[in-house]
Amino acid sequence: MQDRMKLHYDLVVFGAGPGGLSAAISAARLGLRVALVERSSMVAGTVNVGLCLHGFEDGHGDRVVGGISWELIQRCIDEGGSTGPVRLLQAHMYSTTPVDMAVLQKCALDMLDEAGVECWFHTLATEPVVEGSRVTAVRAWSNSGEMEFIARTFVDATGHADIAYRAGVPMRSGRVGDGAMQPMTLGISMAPVDITKMMDAIGEGYGMAVKPGMTEEDYVWFALNLTPWRDAIERIGIRLGDRGTCWGNSIYPRIVNLNAVKIIGLNGADARELSQAEVASRRIAVQFSTFMRENIPGFEQAYITRTSPYIGIRETRHIDGLYTLSDADAVEGRIPDDSIALCGYPIDIHDPVDGAARFQSIGGGRFGISFKSLVPQKLDNLLVSGRGISASDMAFGSVRVMGACLAIGEACGYAAAMAKDSNQNVCEIDGLAVRSALETAGVMLV
Ligand SMILES: Cc1cc2nc3c(=O)[nH]c(=O)nc-3n(C[C@H](O)[C@H](O)[C@H](O)COP(=O)(O)OP(=O)(O)OC[C@H]3O[C@@H](n4cnc5c(N)ncnc54)[C@H](O)[C@@H]3O)c2cc1C
Repeated sequence: MQDRMKLHYDLVVFGAGPGGLSAAISAARLGLRVALVERSSMVAGTVNVGLCLHGFEDGHGDRVVGGISWELIQRCIDEGGSTGPVRLLQAHMYSTTPVDMAVLQKCALDMLDEAGVECWFHTLATEPVVEGSRVTAVRAWSNSGEMEFIARTFVDATGHADIAYRAGVPMRSGRVGDGAMQPMTLGISMAPVDITKMMDAIGEGYGMAVKPGMTEEDYVWFALNLTPWRDAIERIGIRLGDRGTCWGNSIYPRIVNLNAVKIIGLNGADARELSQAEVASRRIAVQFSTFMRENIPGFEQAYITRTSPYIGIRETRHIDGLYTLSDADAVEGRIPDDSIALCGYPIDIHDPVDGAARFQSIGGGRFGISFKSLVPQKLDNLLVSGRGISASDMAFGSVRVMGACLAIGEACGYAAAMAKDSNQNVCEIDGLAVRSALETAGVMLV
């Protein structure tokens, strides 16, 4: 039997989605030796479903996310792969940021490379090695065989809090009470679509901008009303919810990404149920594209050009942290002293039963994410980043978006660097000190 490969770093981050990649870049820029371990071939995680990045601006249009996360958007703009934040009208949120997924990947990989992060793709983290309250190593599998990542600090940005879960951190699955989880959705892209004709027929909310390479404004984000076709769509297997809405975006002319193929009632952290969701969603995607072509003005010539590489998972596990962001924190727009990121996106819960999306705005337009909500109970040297942090149903409905997850990740990188400098465990780092460093560096924009 081959020896297990042992690799030593200051920080190892698991998961290269928004919550992981910003943690890795920020810590490496602050001088740490960092590994980023990702089970797929891609960075940016769920953005690859075909989404715009929400949460860079608050409910009043003021930007709340700076630092690496904003630099990533600026690089995408410079490379012709984003319009930057776009004002939305007749929508549940103030703005969103459309991106070309390929350009976003390229820019994030450039930033990881320049910072000196060692990326391990096609590498699945499997098991933490726990001694007392410390994670001493995390095991992983790749085609090279079994690996062991050894570090002072670990960040779990797997979305599901996989590492924390296997290390015995207390947590809940899904919503408080019954554990039901927000639906999963497979993204599909269709082209060529006459977007103006589509909007004239079924458009509700929208955002317009000049797309890269174009001279006139066009629709880049839209809410579409499919209520007149409810019966036909529900026969395909998609629950439309009470408002009959689906969403989409378009960064280039005549190509649309649709967020419509929703799978309800399955658990994305259960291998059997996730597999069922993958199978069902790919069958439904083809039927839905045919439905769109045969029924919806603007889609007459349109075919599927891409399905997302995997089904997007909105919700699975939430750690029990030293502090759990509460419904009131989000609804009242509280900003505690140890806030390490700001969330300006409204509460957006896709109902686990009927699939309807329900929105509620945040008092004051933004709220703060306490450092303690990243710190799991029972461990000293692991932080959770991204959607797996400790949050109530309503707070989670807001912090789960990518602007907030990127900002949380960046704070994890700062905390890991402070832990190394002060020879402390990362979970003992003072959230006020992290906040102060982030504000001084212009990362957190209060
Ligand atoms: C259908 C859908 C639509 C959404 N719409 C929007 C939107 O329009 N705008 C918006 O801002 N947000 C949207 N969101 C929310 C947002 O995309 C996610 O909440 C966010 O990406 C979470 O970031 P994350 O880094 O925590 O997790 P993820 O983006 O899920 O990234 C986790 C990464 O960890 C990797 N990973 C998992 N387990 C392991 C392991 N054991 N070992 C190694 N790697 C592992 C995964 O492959 C993945 O790359 C949507 C979500 C879904 C599902």
